[in-house]
Amino acid sequence: MKALVLEAKWEPKPGYVVSEFEKQTGKAVTGNSVYKSPSLTLKEVPVPKIGSKDVLLKIKACGVCGSDIHMYETDSQGYVMYPGLMKLPCATGHEFSGVVQEVGKEVRDLKVGDVVTAEEMIWCGECTPCRNGFPNQCEHLEEIGFTIDGAFAEYIAVGSKFCWKLDTLLERYPDPETVYDLGATVEPTCVAYNAIFVRGGGFKPGAYAVVYGGGCIGLSGIALIKAAGASKLIAFETVEARRKLCTAMGADYVFDPIALTKQGTRPSDVVMDLTHGEGADFQLEAAGAPTLTFPEMERVLAVNGKIAQVGRAADRVPVYLDQFQVRHAQFFGSQGHSGDGIFPNVIRLMASGAVDNRKIITARFALDQVREAIKQSGARTDGKILVKPR
Ligand SMILES: [Zn+2]
Ligand SMILES: [Zn+2]
Repeated sequence: MKALVLEAKWEPKPGYVVSEFEKQTGKAVTGNSVYKSPSLTLKEVPVPKIGSKDVLLKIKACGVCGSDIHMYETDSQGYVMYPGLMKLPCATGHEFSGVVQEVGKEVRDLKVGDVVTAEEMIWCGECTPCRNGFPNQCEHLEEIGFTIDGAFAEYIAVGSKFCWKLDTLLERYPDPETVYDLGATVEPTCVAYNAIFVRGGGFKPGAYAVVYGGGCIGLSGIALIKAAGASKLIAFETVEARRKLCTAMGADYVFDPIALTKQGTRPSDVVMDLTHGEGADFQLEAAGAPTLTFPEMERVLAVNGKIAQVGRAADRVPVYLDQFQVRHAQFFGSQGHSGDGIFPNVIRLMASGAVDNRKIITARFALDQVREAIKQSGARTDGKILVKPR
């Protein structure tokens, strides 16, 4: 079968100390500190063999994520940009849907023909964080498309406990292709759901909300926040095409922060104006630009206001803590998408129509064109680009 394989040189940056964990596992905790000169090749590889608790999926659609671009883009020294867990070589792609082709001997809840999506985080279920209910903080985490083979491929082998059936989407959308497409957007929507409702604890209907960043997480976050009853949602996004998608997903007001700054207006001024000086009850940072967004978010905290950080950035940000004390405010860091009913609830919301990710899918490519798909995605003007093996 064909698979898009990412390779790079293991060459720790000068001064970077490789940890015992990294030596033992061969994983880089921060890929950008270690992996240099990446190459992406569509290769002929064997169809993966399944274990007794695995299923073999025929991939139907796989979304291109910002992380896929960051693992391939390089800095001025030739190192990859992605600041998270990586182990190469591996096939990339982690936002996918597929049809079960084969089930392992011990698989109880899936059968051949089932249409599913899957978690990207392969948590062990045995370490202390997993047993305490924090699978996203698993100590033995593997990540599909980052440390183990992913879904820019024709087939993938996945543990059945990481798969979620898309039956309710099949009930709503008669065309299975629509369900395959939407199935590939479940994972990023779950990342937003985790940040907003699980980590951030949500907000009361009627709340004022702000979303920074109109990439896939921000866009699905907008739909989730509106579905949960925010009375006014203000979004900030620098790319015009994505601002239109913010509106399509339900944002009430959308601004270009660069244009505002040129006019001498801060995004926080706009938020204070639109909330009549009361500030934002809930803010989602999905831009991965905290050095720019944090000073704005801090200024507009409503009393009991919350900030959830889901965009990733290897930056240190100064915080004026007094503002958090005075405003009875809270900050939540969010990573991952597993546990807490996140996948089933997101699939239900999509099946109900409350979250309609069809609007954010802006391009589709065949697997043979996967490198072009990643290149186009790198321009950061699309919503979600899908790769669909035939
Ligand atoms: Zn992703
Ligand atoms: Zn674990």
